[in-house]
Amino acid sequence: MNTPVAKKNKNYYIWTIGCQMNEADSRRLGSELESRGYSSVEQPEEADIVVLNTCVVRQQAEDKIFGRLGSVKTIKEKRPNLTVGLMGCMVGVREAPRLQKKFPFVDVFMPPSDTKPMLEFLDSQEFVDEALDAEAEAIQERYAIQDAEHLLPAEQRSNTILANVPVVLGCSHACTFCIIPYRRGRERSRPMDEILDESKKLVDQGVKEIMFLGQIVDRYGHDFNDGTELADLLIKANDISGVERIRFLTSHPNYMSDKLLDAVANLDKVCPHMEVPVQAGNNEVLANMRRGYTVEQFKELIDRIRGKIPDCTINTDIIVGFCGETHDQFMDTYNLMEEIKFDKVHMAKYSVRPRTVAARRMEDDVPEGEKAKRWKMLDVLQRGIQEEKNKTFQDKQVEILVEAYQKGSWRGRTPDNRLVFFKDDRDWLGKIANIQVEHTSPFSLVGKLVE
Ligand code: SF4
Repeated sequence: MNTPVAKKNKNYYIWTIGCQMNEADSRRLGSELESRGYSSVEQPEEADIVVLNTCVVRQQAEDKIFGRLGSVKTIKEKRPNLTVGLMGCMVGVREAPRLQKKFPFVDVFMPPSDTKPMLEFLDSQEFVDEALDAEAEAIQERYAIQDAEHLLPAEQRSNTILANVPVVLGCSHACTFCIIPYRRGRERSRPMDEILDESKKLVDQGVKEIMFLGQIVDRYGHDFNDGTELADLLIKANDISGVERIRFLTSHPNYMSDKLLDAVANLDKVCPHMEVPVQAGNNEVLANMRRGYTVEQFKELIDRIRGKIPDCTINTDIIVGFCGETHDQFMDTYNLMEEIKFDKVHMAKYSVRPRTVAARRMEDDVPEGEKAKRWKMLDVLQRGIQEEKNKTFQDKQVEILVEAYQKGSWRGRTPDNRLVFFKDDRDWLGKIANIQVEHTSPFSLVGKLVE
């Protein structure tokens, strides 16, 4: 391993505090990075790798490190593919797991005088980077379809009620289990004017509900570097005449700003409906997945969403049986689901995806039978939660946008994304209907029309 790989235009920044031993360690790490083609820079903002080499001999030194970690976290929020390393006495020989929980945005922990974890990380990351560059080159598309004639196939015009509009293409996160960055290339946001123009044309062709899409949709605009975010797009889209409803998915827990939540709370067309994958309820598993947050931070986010948008639907994704997941760690996920009571959970048994970090460096060691058992346990739990939640709508009135006629019934959804069925002889496609709920199940509501 550790074959030097020449990297062009890549920079590193090492900040060192403490004794001469730390200075020597930093010098060694620096020369190892330079042998791989990285150049030293004086500001962390300009670097692709930022390492803080730490000292805990005095409280004052520790305080300085916490301050530095705070500013590095801010840079990482803007550039998720920044590699952050923490080195030295704060990491020691056994503090890494504790620090990983506290600072989930740190990618690599190095004990004093041990640069190996960083070099190993770069081996895996360089593989990811090269794959992303190759994909980005292959995917040269400008997504825009400027020609209104080709927005919807002719037979779908005037009878397509919902349309998906991609706003962020690709993903630069590279969670260890995920193949998407290798297939869709680096993250890039589409220009706002282009998205609004496409949305308006779709509405002109009969669409009533727009779904903004991105692998991490809440990172919309981050690559413009001018402060634009998803909330700004929602504010403008809310003004499109003729659009009834606006949704967006999928959000990453780290990027759901207060401005975004306020936009959902205050804009009349933006639906109170979030898709925020947690993936696991155990911090060690989350760190192995390189998700970049802890269970505690995820719970804080849920509190923040429910504080600002009390009736918001919160859906999530969960993977069971990820590499190394023990029964106790799985039970943490089970308990988290029981505690948060998501409205819907997209559950998957972990399966190896070729080329991913997990495929190359981790062992798929949870037996299939065990994965199936864990999946079933979550499924039973979630059905019960959904049944209870939907029961609260019994005999209540709900407002739906009718989107299709299916097996003799009209089908629509509430703003908070509950499926509702009703029967009527008239044409309700694309219209808003009020329904009195008569039956509920874990998956849908059935009722009668209120004239
Ligand atoms: S799981 Fe989502 S955030 Fe992670 S790499 Fe895949 S697409 Fe990106």
